[in-house]
Amino acid sequence: MQTGTIGVTTENIFPVIKKFLYSDHEIFLRELVSNAIDATQKLKTLSSFGEFKGELGQLDVRVKIDPEAGTLTISDRGVGMTADDVDKYINQIAFSGAEEFLNKYKDTANTIIGHFGLGFYSAFMVAKKVEIVSLSYKEGAEAVRWECDGSPSYNMETTTKADRGTDIILYIDDESKQFLDKSTIDNLLKKYCRFLPIPVISGKQQEWKDGKMVDTDRDNVINNTEPRWAKKPSELTDDDYRDFYHELYPGEEDPLFWIHLNVDYPFNLTGILFFPKIKNNFDIAQKRIQLYCNSVYVTDEVKGVVPEFMTLLQGVIDSPDIPLNVSRSYLQSDTAVKKISSYITKKVASRLEEIFRNDRDEFEKKWDDIKIFIEYGMLTDPKFCEAAMKFVLLKDTEGQYFTLEDYRKLIEAQQTDKDNKVVYLYTTDPEAQYTYIKAATDKGYSVLTMDGQLDNHFIGLLESKIENSRFVRVDSDIIENLIPKDDRKSANLNTIERTILTGLFTNSLPSIKSAQFIVDFEDMAADSTPVTLTQNEYMRRMKEMAAMQPGMSFYGELPDNYTLVVNTANPLIERVKNQASEALNAKITPLVQKIDDDNKLISTLKGQAKDGQMDAEAQKQVSDLENAVSTTRQEQDAIINNYAKEDKLVGQLIDLALLRRGLLSGADLDRFIDRSIKML
Ligand code: ADP
Ligand code: MG
Repeated sequence: MQTGTIGVTTENIFPVIKKFLYSDHEIFLRELVSNAIDATQKLKTLSSFGEFKGELGQLDVRVKIDPEAGTLTISDRGVGMTADDVDKYINQIAFSGAEEFLNKYKDTANTIIGHFGLGFYSAFMVAKKVEIVSLSYKEGAEAVRWECDGSPSYNMETTTKADRGTDIILYIDDESKQFLDKSTIDNLLKKYCRFLPIPVISGKQQEWKDGKMVDTDRDNVINNTEPRWAKKPSELTDDDYRDFYHELYPGEEDPLFWIHLNVDYPFNLTGILFFPKIKNNFDIAQKRIQLYCNSVYVTDEVKGVVPEFMTLLQGVIDSPDIPLNVSRSYLQSDTAVKKISSYITKKVASRLEEIFRNDRDEFEKKWDDIKIFIEYGMLTDPKFCEAAMKFVLLKDTEGQYFTLEDYRKLIEAQQTDKDNKVVYLYTTDPEAQYTYIKAATDKGYSVLTMDGQLDNHFIGLLESKIENSRFVRVDSDIIENLIPKDDRKSANLNTIERTILTGLFTNSLPSIKSAQFIVDFEDMAADSTPVTLTQNEYMRRMKEMAAMQPGMSFYGELPDNYTLVVNTANPLIERVKNQASEALNAKITPLVQKIDDDNKLISTLKGQAKDGQMDAEAQKQVSDLENAVSTTRQEQDAIINNYAKEDKLVGQLIDLALLRRGLLSGADLDRFIDRSIKML
């Protein structure tokens, strides 16, 4: 019997392990099963080198619970350990046996998991005592029994053991009783060991018999020892990929595309990434990419390992170069990890380009579904953006798809404005903006459908990437001004007419909570609509972008700004104008004159001020004049308002414009219908 102190520099390593090393206590199981798998793989390697000549027999790893004894045992039939081995590999914990083995069998032993740091000792996170009973594969080896109660001292003695291999026996401590529950253990095994290369067995399969579940004599094998990603792409059919996807994510629709990753230089990485069908807003967040290290599940927290936008993908990435370190911040700052991330980006981009080039039809068919992913990638990853410029598609309102280059060629001739910018027209809602789309297509313009969740950000990106381009929504201006070819001519109205019409239309607008209006006049074609609502592109985008900033959603609740464009060339508007002028000219003209005179006086007085300073008398005069102007305005407003109440036509025209825009509802709509019926 040997007693001693474990070779660590600090007496207090165990409390550290227990509390801080791993935040998830459950990973002890991953560590111990990994060690058992390592030991088994080592034996297979030795056997293939002829260094082990005995029978391998059935090589599996068994996990057993003994509720009475309060123990959890992990058994393998691998290389086992001699007393010397235990001394070297367990007692001196700074020493990693895997490392030594790897050095010796560098080229073939890449299946050894290892590199988990203090793997074995993680057992003390959940156990008050740990026992190792082991018999080495070496000829004439004596079995060894080691135990340690979590203090830095241990006991070691020879013992007897019938079979080659190692039992690790954990005496589960009182705070960790959940690890004596079979379903808890099975779930953990399924999580971490699902694709390990050696069968991991937990008890027996059960079946329903005589009203209860009973054990059968078949082993309950947890894992699939041949993960698809470890195979060569040429060995797999489309169905294999789809089946694997459903194995990973039961109950999901078929994936759209997949990408099989397979590199050995400059790092080792395999995996399969799937493009899922995204149904609603980022619902994917729940079922993400899983990271494995030599088939051992590590985490599905892939942030930092894969580029941000890939978090929309699903699948697995497996690399021995992903350090399975205790701290995640370490993972993110690791240079190997950074290389992996940029490799994956490149690979995903080139695979997408390949599908685009070889199977354009298929690519277009799936475009609507993968678009969010590609746009997200382009917005967040400059490298991906660069690559994707070649295959990103634009879709027009007729459902045709174009590359950026082709689309530019298509619209350039028709849609270049007077400043030599190519104007890309788009709609965010083909239903609601139907009239505007129709006006544009009637004029021979092309309109893009940009109704995706990321499209308003994406439009900004495209504007910055496509030289001399400008994106405007179809309803951002009247059709005549959407793509201005010459300088805008202002409506042919004199001051009195403008004052009367502005007052008339402003006073006839219903008050709508979600909207604010300004009235504007345009000399459009005589047969163009009398009144149109437009929404300034710049203002609308500012508001939308602001509302998307975190914590800024109140912007979304601010009213939308609309311009009510009155077509002065339309005969109906002319009628309105003439009737109003006839009724109001006499009263309004002197008021307009007075406002004009007062304003002139104000600016004269202000102009006379020396060094911007007015004397007290001049100041009083100015403020009196300003008051007078505002009183006259009120008077003027009241007169027009009175008239507006009688003018059914203006109200009707406005309501029609609102209706077309989907802005008329509730009492306003009711009033409109009543008025319409009466007019009929
Ligand atoms: P690592 O796995 O990174 O080497 P661990 O602390 O998990 O670190 O294990 C330390 C060493 O103990 C292993 O390298 C191995 O030599 C030995 N060991 C642990 N478990 C077993 C086992 N089940 N069979 C044989 N050797 C084992
Ligand atoms: Mg280990």
